[in-house]
Amino acid sequence: MKLRKVTAASAAVLALALTATACGSDDKDSDSAGAGGGDKIKVGIKYDQPGLGLKESDGSFSGFDVDVATYVAKELGYDADQIEFVETKSADRENALARGDVKFIAATYSINEERQKKVDFGGPYLLAHQDLLVKSDSDITEATDLNGKNLCSVTGSTSAQNVRDKLAPKANLKQVGGYSECIAALQSGAVDAVTTDDSILAGFAAQQQYKGQFKLAGLKLSNENYGIGVKKGDTETLNKINDALEKMVSEKAWDKAVQDNFGPANYKNEPAPKIGNIVK
Ligand code: GLU
Repeated sequence: MKLRKVTAASAAVLALALTATACGSDDKDSDSAGAGGGDKIKVGIKYDQPGLGLKESDGSFSGFDVDVATYVAKELGYDADQIEFVETKSADRENALARGDVKFIAATYSINEERQKKVDFGGPYLLAHQDLLVKSDSDITEATDLNGKNLCSVTGSTSAQNVRDKLAPKANLKQVGGYSECIAALQSGAVDAVTTDDSILAGFAAQQQYKGQFKLAGLKLSNENYGIGVKKGDTETLNKINDALEKMVSEKAWDKAVQDNFGPANYKNEPAPKIGNIVK
């Protein structure tokens, strides 16, 4: 390196600049769209799902998806304080990636063929199953019991689609923007049941304010393979994400994230999936 003509002061500045680069990432890639211009990475999560993706009242974030996203971001070269979490609701996920609003999404995002036409998925990193949440004294025990009943799920979710297509086509399905709205509707009696992944429902049921009020039906109505969504064709990020997920499992950070986030809800999760192994 030619530093001969550089003055002491500018050498110091240059040294600082070099250090800053070195401390950062080898992956401050040119795609500023998702990465937010270099020193930040934008990551899509849910904001209203306790145990998975939750924005706390103090502005911090918690949940299994948040821990997975934080681990993955680290492997991409971004420390926790360089992550900017962005809310990606169920119906917004494909568009958020296509627009480049976020670099990747970890938001209870099930891999399926329809979505794979629009986005690419790393993982899977969790296998969940669709279930029902009802009031503790409810006599709904099967999906078919929902026909003729008021049911809540979220627009753009596989849960709502499964109800319409096969589980209970004659249910009166109310679709809202996020699961917290469904839980409020269940508590008020506006609906008889909420349906989505058991991982999500368990997180709500365990919330202090709902203790004892709700129960899960315990039905495995589908296989929901959670993937990390990236923009279609972003193979470089995808490969790094898969490496990161493998490392997270082998280093047992995955087990720790499970314990930290699903332990309080007593959610009995499936073992860590192998990358690329999508359970139909
Ligand atoms: N995992 C399902 C899905 O991707 C339901 C949960 C959600 O809406 O995020 O649609």
